Amino acid sequence: MDRSEVVFVGHGSPINVLMDNNYTRNWKALSTQLKKPKAILAVSAHWYTDKCAISDKEYHKQIYDMYGFPEEIYQIKYEAKSDKNLENKVLELLSDDVRINNDWGLDHGLWSVLKFMYPEANIPLVIISIDARKSAMEHFTIARKLRDLRQEGYLVLTSGNIVHNLRMVDWDNPGLSPRLEAFDDMVLEKIKARKYLDLVEYNKLEDVNLAFPTPDHYIPLIYALGFLYEDEETYVFNRGGELGTISMTSYIWK
Ligand code: ZN
Repeated sequence: MDRSEVVFVGHGSPINVLMDNNYTRNWKALSTQLKKPKAILAVSAHWYTDKCAISDKEYHKQIYDMYGFPEEIYQIKYEAKSDKNLENKVLELLSDDVRINNDWGLDHGLWSVLKFMYPEANIPLVIISIDARKSAMEHFTIARKLRDLRQEGYLVLTSGNIVHNLRMVDWDNPGLSPRLEAFDDMVLEKIKARKYLDLVEYNKLEDVNLAFPTPDHYIPLIYALGFLYEDEETYVFNRGGELGTISMTSYIWK
């Protein structure tokens, strides 16, 4: 079987799940650009733990981890199954670096996108949490240890935002402010040039503290990069932003 793709999605505001806009239309079109995966190996910017974890429940508990949104958002259901084979493979490949933890579930970083991508929830998924104590290079290494799962037909989906600075939200800006757009563009150039390690060592990047005061939404990009081989083609979609300070720029590698 040919290897499956890696997708990094900028998920942005949870409100997108109620919208028919360019971003969500591209989420809807995503599955047509991908091979049908056996299952999805996913990472969300919203699941941090003190050790990398996966759930071993048959169905993922849907988490409504956002507050103050319209009531209809809390009515959206996404019933996704897990995949025992993939769970076991992750446990084996990460061995002491992973544990079972059923405290969390499927949060909006993933379900708000999956709702468009696979509306029937017919592709099972395994979510790995992000170990909050690990360094960026360690995150990259964890992904690297799991990389060959792509050869078995498992799609990798990581969800975050490359620029994510909620302290500077500008309700009147439907895109990105200039310096943040420059940061987003710089990341794109580095990805195109395959300078992935520059992006892992993100503390050295210009304007990084402006782009994200905390790295929680950027780290899923590091996971995506760790899953890449040398010969990947890069496809960019949803380039741009919202609220002046959230980049929606997303990538597919195949
Ligand atoms: Zn988020």
